[in-house]
Amino acid sequence: MSDEKDATKIVQAGRRPEWTQGIVNPPVWRASTILYDSVAELRARGAADTHHKLFYGRRGTPTQWSLAEALTELEPGAEATLLYPSGVAAVASALLAVLSPGDELLVPDSAYDPTRGFANGLLRKIGVTTIYYDPTIGAGIAALCTDRTKAIFLESPGSLTFEVQDLPAIVAVAKARGIVTLLDNTWATPLLLPAIALGIDYSILACTKYVVGHSDVMLGSVTAAQGKYEPLRAISYQLGQTGSPDDAWLGARGLRTMAVRLEQHGRSALKIAQWLRTRPEVARVLHPALPECPGHEYFVRDFRGASGLFSFVLNGGSDAARAALIDGLAHFGIGFSWGGYESLALPVDPQRHRTAKKWEAEGPVIRLQIGLEDADDLIADLDAGLARFAQARG
Ligand SMILES: *Cc1c(COP(=O)(O)O)cnc(C)c1O
Repeated sequence: MSDEKDATKIVQAGRRPEWTQGIVNPPVWRASTILYDSVAELRARGAADTHHKLFYGRRGTPTQWSLAEALTELEPGAEATLLYPSGVAAVASALLAVLSPGDELLVPDSAYDPTRGFANGLLRKIGVTTIYYDPTIGAGIAALCTDRTKAIFLESPGSLTFEVQDLPAIVAVAKARGIVTLLDNTWATPLLLPAIALGIDYSILACTKYVVGHSDVMLGSVTAAQGKYEPLRAISYQLGQTGSPDDAWLGARGLRTMAVRLEQHGRSALKIAQWLRTRPEVARVLHPALPECPGHEYFVRDFRGASGLFSFVLNGGSDAARAALIDGLAHFGIGFSWGGYESLALPVDPQRHRTAKKWEAEGPVIRLQIGLEDADDLIADLDAGLARFAQARG
């Protein structure tokens, strides 16, 4: 069903009759033990390819296969998808699938901080060297590639600061040298950026965010391009990684409405970003759809739209003045993660994580996750917040 539009696919994909048993939503198939009719059947199943066959709970049930198949359908050119108990587990498994001791890995300086943590932690321990690069490097990444470079990690837009990467240019460099590419596609999802079609080998999602969409489940996924699935499957089975049936069911339930949610998140976020941009208390808004965002031209070229997460830089002021803004907000929760239906405001300090290139700002930074509330109510809330900030700043 690869010819249908995404909104149609997202409704239908993964709902095979043998998995749904005639129910609209594939039910939760919970299992550890699968029972066999005979010793002969048990032996036959164990020896065979267990893809989409009940074998043992860790290999999944139709509940997980259904969500995985739906995510694969949304990435034209993909071979298959595996689920993980969190986005971080998905990132870690994908990297372990492609890296060996002695290899070099390139990671953007704007990567999600726990991704850096994995590279600087376990990967370093097993002898993989990570080199951080300026996310705006584009084709210039060729200069960082050596005979040992095995993989290029990508995250576009970048966490906290939202630089958009020139993905096709980097993919071209990688392909010419036989280097694997992995993209953390959590911000855009395959709906706003079909990554495998751009030539990316592994498209990674923290499903915890927009796929689940309701801030109540931890879940991750990795979708592999044609011919790239086997190493991912092998390492994930070795590590015993699996997303649970209950979490997959909630993920699938969220996925069915993701297209309409993303549209609303994106529209409200852009309206609020444009409003913040006019405010004297705000030095800069970091949003890929605004022309001043580094890599905006790649956003326009490669993405189908923006989602609901962006940051802004305050004009001067202290940490305390930033807290005065955030603490008094009525409609924004204060918390980690994003992608749910509710708005969030988070104080962030991108400069603390950078090692490849210094990141400087005119003042403290706030990251906003724009939820499904009315955008004008959110603007009124932020307006009062900026007044508190201005007063605290003095
Ligand atoms: C949240 C997030 C992750 C990790 O997902 P978890 O499910 O929280 O482990 C990975 N990448 C990005 C860009 C994220 O925002």
